[in-house]
Amino acid sequence: MPVAVYPGSFDPTTYGHLDIIERASSLFERLIVAVGGNPAKEYLFDMADRVEMAEQACRRFPNVEVDSFTGLLVNFLAHCGANVVVRGLRAVSDFESELQMALTNRILRPGVETVFLMTSPEFLYLSSSTVREIALLGGPVHTFVPPHVEARLKARFPSLD
Ligand code: ADP
Repeated sequence: MPVAVYPGSFDPTTYGHLDIIERASSLFERLIVAVGGNPAKEYLFDMADRVEMAEQACRRFPNVEVDSFTGLLVNFLAHCGANVVVRGLRAVSDFESELQMALTNRILRPGVETVFLMTSPEFLYLSSSTVREIALLGGPVHTFVPPHVEARLKARFPSLD
């Protein structure tokens, strides 16, 4: 069974991510959650915080580990000896950029396959950016993120509900 890598920003980890992680962890022998650092992107949480939050959330899955990477995903895949990328798909709006990324990664590293897991309906509208926006505006986030992530958001935004 191949090793799979689930890359993303995880800024922060949400229940939508965890749903994908739980389902992917039952499909692959080993799943590496890869927290990405892109110099062109601005993050709410720095890399160390994003990794810690993901690690804490993934502790209950024995075959899931969390790592971080900067630079090209295909180089990280080579480093891990992995040829499978896992991504989540929500609405059609995710599709275009995901297709582009999957095809590009296959050109950069032939043999790489991207496996898409459809979101569970309850997480269809959930994204890290929505969570960040709600937190910034002082709204409740406990239905979207695990308690340890909520605590980090509360520390960052003291006016949070
Ligand atoms: P990126 O910046 O790479 O999109 P994210 O952390 O936003 O990083 O997302 C990582 C992956 O998780 C993506 O494949 C995204 O589609 C998926 N994902 C995020 N939220 C959900 C959700 N609610 N349901 C299903 N997949 C999701």
